[in-house]
Amino acid sequence: MTAYAGGGMPGMTDDMLLPFQIESLGLRGRMVRLGAEVDAVLRRHDYPEPVARMLGEALALAVLLAGALKYDGVFTLQIQSDGPISLLVADVTSDGHLRGYAQFDAERFASAAAARAQSGAGIERSVPGLLGAGYLAFTVDQGAHTDRYQGIVELTGATLADCAHTYFRDSEQIETCLKTACERIALPGGGSAWRAAGLMVQRMPAEGGSASEADRIWQSLTEDEAEDGWRRIVILTSSARNEELLAPELSPHELLFRLFHEDGVRVFEPHAVTDRCRCSRERVDAVLSAQPRAELDDMKEPDGAVVVTCQFCNRAYRYDDSDLDALADATRH
Ligand SMILES: [Zn+2]
Repeated sequence: MTAYAGGGMPGMTDDMLLPFQIESLGLRGRMVRLGAEVDAVLRRHDYPEPVARMLGEALALAVLLAGALKYDGVFTLQIQSDGPISLLVADVTSDGHLRGYAQFDAERFASAAAARAQSGAGIERSVPGLLGAGYLAFTVDQGAHTDRYQGIVELTGATLADCAHTYFRDSEQIETCLKTACERIALPGGGSAWRAAGLMVQRMPAEGGSASEADRIWQSLTEDEAEDGWRRIVILTSSARNEELLAPELSPHELLFRLFHEDGVRVFEPHAVTDRCRCSRERVDAVLSAQPRAELDDMKEPDGAVVVTCQFCNRAYRYDDSDLDALADATRH
């Protein structure tokens, strides 16, 4: 099912990935808009604001990048670096289950923030300032005995979107226009909530043979038409302000129409995105079963139980002595 943006398609406006096509140019794009689901993820972790914002952008970026691939499994975006934030992980399954976490050095983070405050600088938001030098990698895991698709790029640029842009340009030779945003927004009824969003348009290289309708439109353009069209779309995409990308009162359909109506924009069926972790007691059992009992005993809390906390969702799995005995019995049999 498809609908024309601006036509007021009812239904989802938050927590979804919306594929679209720019009609006159045959260009494909995607918009992700995350509301309550990303708020749940970021609130649960309670990171300092700049860390939460960076993770929110990574979550939006993961949904955008995953949406460009056909896969059945887990797409993982991981950023490792030497800055105050040392690790960001965001993953999304082909069913739209999203989760993520960050690791940061609280002391380094606090001293960097204090130094900025003293010098009168605002809150640090940039990739060089928060993440430093490192790389952004992504993998697609489709289960055992399947290929893991992996892309990797050095962190270059001020934003995560810049880094992803560099990856597509240098590694995939795909011209990409990409924006992400994440902010805590004041709610009309008081309080605030995190929201995240992203917008991506790509100029795919022409594929022989199985060209889709969109490819045929793009290929029918003269070189000048294609070049001018692409430049126009880049400018329009870049013109989308963070407030517009995030605004609860502006639906993604309305925003896409506002940006691209001159070229015609068609939106496709949205895909729901949900805050859901894949951890389980069974998975923790499997990890603990592989450890010698003496090491498990060393992990005990003062109350005598081993507690394993999921980094993604903070769920705590407790194992008292009888649970550990049961694990050992199960392993022996
Ligand atoms: Zn979990």
